[in-house]
Amino acid sequence: MEESLEKKLLDEKRSGWLDTDDEKFGKIFDFCNGYMEFLNRSKTEREFAANAKQVAEENGFVDINKVEQLNPGDKVYFVNREKSVYLAVIGKQKLEDGLHIIGSHIDSPRLDLKPNPVYEDGELAYFNTHYYGGIKKYQWTTIPLSLHGVIIKANGEKITVNIGEDENDPIFTITDLLPHLAKEQVNKKLGEAIEGEKLNLLIGGIPSLEKNAKEKVKLNILKILNEKYGIIERDFISSELEFVPSFKARSLGFDYGMVVAYGQDDKLCSYTSLKAIMDITNPEKTAVCILTDKEEIGSLGNTGMKSHVFDYFISELLDKKGENRPNALDKVFCCSKMLSADVDGAYDPLYRNVSDKYNSSFLSKGVTLNKYTGVRGKSGASDANAEYVAWVRNLFEENDIKYQVTELGKVDEGGGGTIAYMLANKGVDVIDCGVPILSMHAPYEVASKFDIYEAYRAYMAFWKKD
Ligand code: MN
Ligand code: MN
Repeated sequence: MEESLEKKLLDEKRSGWLDTDDEKFGKIFDFCNGYMEFLNRSKTEREFAANAKQVAEENGFVDINKVEQLNPGDKVYFVNREKSVYLAVIGKQKLEDGLHIIGSHIDSPRLDLKPNPVYEDGELAYFNTHYYGGIKKYQWTTIPLSLHGVIIKANGEKITVNIGEDENDPIFTITDLLPHLAKEQVNKKLGEAIEGEKLNLLIGGIPSLEKNAKEKVKLNILKILNEKYGIIERDFISSELEFVPSFKARSLGFDYGMVVAYGQDDKLCSYTSLKAIMDITNPEKTAVCILTDKEEIGSLGNTGMKSHVFDYFISELLDKKGENRPNALDKVFCCSKMLSADVDGAYDPLYRNVSDKYNSSFLSKGVTLNKYTGVRGKSGASDANAEYVAWVRNLFEENDIKYQVTELGKVDEGGGGTIAYMLANKGVDVIDCGVPILSMHAPYEVASKFDIYEAYRAYMAFWKKD
């Protein structure tokens, strides 16, 4: 029978589940079980970096600082201050023939403790926070929160904190006004109803029996912390403590077809790319995986993508592979290709008015390619060359990877950006390639299991390509 004109000409965008056989179905669900388990142990950038390092070592990757010389097939990693990780599998070709880089970020929106966090009011003790990243503040009240991070004492001793994940741990929460007395609050604009200064955690209410003490509840909390961690109030100034939702990653829906979890932006892309590079052996082009920090607050600082630490890592590769010469680093970047792996805002039928449905990403329709991001007239965008987009789509079509080419929201509705332009500025061909999610930056974000597995397949195909 002859192909219909419709089938021949139209770009049919259909659910990936429709073309999923039983075998692939099983693989998708198995993969996502591993993903959810990893997410539950990796809620912060430090935890993700430590777990990524462990996965890498179990798969034969070695610390680049312990390697004198690099040869094709070698697998190395570099951990930057416990908060970002770069991995590489050395290719058969020279580094200056170009790298295949996939970069994602392992930080997620959350509430950070202020440097002087403990106070008492109304005979209750509180932790004062400063939010990290773009959050809708009202979403962070009256949910269970757990405390993760480190406290470094003046003598350098490091204390790791993780309270609220174990069933027997206490959790913490931010209270909200009862509806009975919220007449004024409910008439405020959504963005103003909960003030940043009110994002304070309730942490205790039992007073110390110490006579003459002024703030007895605060004192009792400090006593408990001193017994548990050996710290005094001043030790908070050299800590990095983050409140994240205590929720566990779970399957969503009667069909179990989605994952709902905290931090899928961007640990979804970090996990899938980390898993993919574990499965790469002897690639033609050197495969590089970036797991960076600080993306949610502008990629600044020495663990963010704008720092030169990544350049240093590539310089180390050049050096240890015996390819260093003047301008080698620039040449490597100018010949490299990259997928900037970050989640995309999916079309939400409940909020359809913000999306152009012809250019939106949809759950279960595969990985997203954003040719450009930016706001108001593509401002601030890294706009991928059509030639490179063609190369990437050809790769996906050859490997039967389901993909959709999309844009975040309607024109002038808002927008966003990723680390894409930072690498593009070095000369790398870059396109954003991630996964559509719902409720981005909320304490609980939703993704399709089909897309999660497809991201893993897409990243693997990219690294295997010569
Ligand atoms: Mn992101
Ligand atoms: Mn984000």
